[in-house]
Amino acid sequence: MIQRICVYCGSSGQVSPSYLTEAAALGRLFAEQQITLVYGGANVGSMGAMADACLAAGGEVIGVMPKGLEEKEVAHQGLTELHIVADMHQRKAMMADLADAFIALPGGMGTLEELFEALTWAQLEFHGKAIGVLNSQGYFSQLLAFLSHAAAEGFMHERHVGLLLEDSSAPGLLEKLRNYQPQQQSKWW
Ligand code: AMP
Repeated sequence: MIQRICVYCGSSGQVSPSYLTEAAALGRLFAEQQITLVYGGANVGSMGAMADACLAAGGEVIGVMPKGLEEKEVAHQGLTELHIVADMHQRKAMMADLADAFIALPGGMGTLEELFEALTWAQLEFHGKAIGVLNSQGYFSQLLAFLSHAAAEGFMHERHVGLLLEDSSAPGLLEKLRNYQPQQQSKWW
């Protein structure tokens, strides 16, 4: 059962407002479905929009932020829980441990790095949690196409492309995360 979802998303506010609106809608959906939001704890960009909307709708939000980043990213002061950890590695480890599944919303390099860490750990069967991207406005379509290209070129198994679930609607993506069954599909051997 999925009770807590870790969401990776952009810290930039310099994006089309529609991305921020979609992040906020996901936050509200979590509150409605009583899913606790686990995220990086910032008050900026999509991260802030999502957390604010979830809290305003009565949801629970857990933030995890490394020491030293509180000022740069502006730690959100109104969260249900805010954990300050030693570094980025601890941040990612704690977010992953707390969550039953992962979602990436549109974001930059930080979002992609976090998404790919969750994916590579799934590929190595370190965890069997569902991972999906909310493909808002086709933001991730080129990335999905690139993964198919990597598989076609033999750098990864086609079956591992399927580790990354995708949907353009948040309720649709949640449904896919809930239905996900991890398969025994070790890397090459
Ligand atoms: P971005 O998608 O680049 O806006 O970054 C989104 C979030 O990812 C921000 O909270 C960043 O601080 C965070 N981030 C960036 N790099 C890392 C990393 N190596 N480990 C953990 N979080 C990171």
